[in-house]
Amino acid sequence: MSPTAPSTSPGNQAGPEDGPLPAAVVLDDVHKRYGGTRAVDGVSLTVPRGEFFGLLGPNGAGKTTLVEIMEGQRRADSGTVTVLGTSPWPRDTSLLPRLGVQTQTSAFFVRLTAREHLRTMAALYRVDRAAAERALASVGLTEQGDTRVDDLSGGQRQRLAIASALVHEPELIFLDEPTAALDPQARRDLWQVLRDLKGAGRTIIYTTHHLDEAEALCDRVAIMVDGSVAALDSPARLIAAATPTTRLLVPAGRMTADQARAVEGVDSVTEEPDALVLETLESGRVLAAIDALAGLQGVRTRTASLEDVYLTLTGARTGAP
Ligand code: ADP
Repeated sequence: MSPTAPSTSPGNQAGPEDGPLPAAVVLDDVHKRYGGTRAVDGVSLTVPRGEFFGLLGPNGAGKTTLVEIMEGQRRADSGTVTVLGTSPWPRDTSLLPRLGVQTQTSAFFVRLTAREHLRTMAALYRVDRAAAERALASVGLTEQGDTRVDDLSGGQRQRLAIASALVHEPELIFLDEPTAALDPQARRDLWQVLRDLKGAGRTIIYTTHHLDEAEALCDRVAIMVDGSVAALDSPARLIAAATPTTRLLVPAGRMTADQARAVEGVDSVTEEPDALVLETLESGRVLAAIDALAGLQGVRTRTASLEDVYLTLTGARTGAP
């Protein structure tokens, strides 16, 4: 058996049979209940080939259940699930080699070296040894190839977990919180690994609780709340739609709150210990007024982030029945 060729470029490019490649994932009105819990409650979404797709949401939102349904590990109660053009349930053995699922670090062969671990994975997938070397290199672990798995750092183990999902060159990769429990530097290093995968045209579906990371890496994100998709778009569009106002921070002591409120175009003023925060839809006009009143020295703009969108969507529903 030869490995499935990776998708090298996103979009509906011509496939081997000259037809357009089907989307990586198409979900239509998918439901899954556990007893009285609606874990997934009517999710419809499409992930095109080559997309880096983030699944966000608080614990219990249904992310894991949804990913397991896509991976073919769980059966949806209703709705249709299409992965790489086929149904993942009942388990489809021709689909499995086309999917890459990040190994839990607890499932490593700890007495082996990183290289031996990946060669074992390659043998399980019946791909050649060179594939193990490519996977090591793609996560920047070539130098640690001869290090025993239990001597790797946390960040290196996470890289190995990702490499394990890549060894058979799958078309679609699922990563479950790949940067959880990493220090900031290791997390940033892993971002580059993830960016490189995306650059190589891989389709990635990943879950994270790090909203800054999702904003930096994802083409699109779905924010799940209570089993449903509460928002689905690129981080930039979600931010722009949710927070059209600009916040201008004027260092404390430069002008009074009353002076700020009197400026035309200012919608609200809040006093923080170090600054007055002016919200406006007309930042140019308000900046000009601040310049005239107090000068622009030290004035900062606070831009909205995906975290603001997330907190609005998830916070507003906390405590809802
Ligand atoms: P997330 O990954 O977003 O934390 P999950 O998919 O794990 O969400 O869980 C969604 C909901 O389904 C939660 O209320 C959770 O308690 C429930 N749930 C998940 N798995 C099971 C299970 N095997 N049996 C019963 N309830 C479950």
